[in-house]
Amino acid sequence: MAREGNLEAPTRHPLDWLSEDFYNEESLNAELERVYDICHGCRRCVSLCQSFPTLFDLVDESDTMEVDGVDKKDYMKVVDQCYLCDLCYMTKCPYTPPHEWNLDFPHLMLRAKAVKFKKGEVLARDKFLSDTDGLGKFAGIPIVTQTVNAVNKSSVARGILENALGVDKKAWLPEFASTKFRSGAKKSANHPVKDGKHTPGKVAIYSTCYVNYNEPGMGHDLLAILDHNEIPYVMVEKEACCGMPKLEQGDLQGVAEKKSHQHSASGQAGQRGLRDPYASSVMHTDVQAGAAADVPRLC
Ligand code: SF4
Ligand code: SF4
Repeated sequence: MAREGNLEAPTRHPLDWLSEDFYNEESLNAELERVYDICHGCRRCVSLCQSFPTLFDLVDESDTMEVDGVDKKDYMKVVDQCYLCDLCYMTKCPYTPPHEWNLDFPHLMLRAKAVKFKKGEVLARDKFLSDTDGLGKFAGIPIVTQTVNAVNKSSVARGILENALGVDKKAWLPEFASTKFRSGAKKSANHPVKDGKHTPGKVAIYSTCYVNYNEPGMGHDLLAILDHNEIPYVMVEKEACCGMPKLEQGDLQGVAEKKSHQHSASGQAGQRGLRDPYASSVMHTDVQAGAAADVPRLC
């Protein structure tokens, strides 16, 4: 018998993304309605991101003040605000499996994004801008770097960019670094492993596109801290985009292709769920060799 709230560790069921029903809009809307109704009665996640306030405003401003009063066309407004951080599932929700309500809000948002992607409703602009590896490699070419940075700071060029790609001219854009983190960083530090009691005592660094192309300083800071504390590290031998930008657009096939490419490159067979981009990356070999994975992040 299910207990009130969910006191068990959450169980994550694999995304059934290859089934036909997964992309059936009627079935998706029925599930969105069911989950939105539970969330409307709970409202615990209101402060986490913009998805929940969007949902609750839609409900409160509807004729019935219930989910049945919300136009189904507006369901995607909630989905568009979710950036798949997983916080609601990991930290807040009492109704995640094994609770009988079987509520996995981020997975449902991902399903809705996948349906939108399959319907061809994701803009070419979003596909272009989410190719972080391709953009980073191009913008990392000497002279191109300075040109791209100058263009991004020019109000005239930003106006053109806004008209052409819909990127708000007031939106902050990250600068591209003239030297990539992976080019400028020391590849390893060979201190003896001192404390491997509760951790492996050594670290594999997967820098991410953002640190590699835009914020190399964060990566260098991390290496300096590790070196200062005499913790051995190694940069993963090969690195590629983790697939998160594609995942956020619902391009599940694109993520799967990236994953299979990465695994064949590193000679590993994929065994984990789709939503496991870092684990699926080419750092697999180094991590399996016994190092803890470390990913410099902004938060
Ligand atoms: S997973 Fe989505 S809905 Fe949940 S807290 Fe993160 S952004 Fe919000
Ligand atoms: S995801 Fe769970 S905790 Fe968050 S509002 Fe919905 S039911 Fe409540």
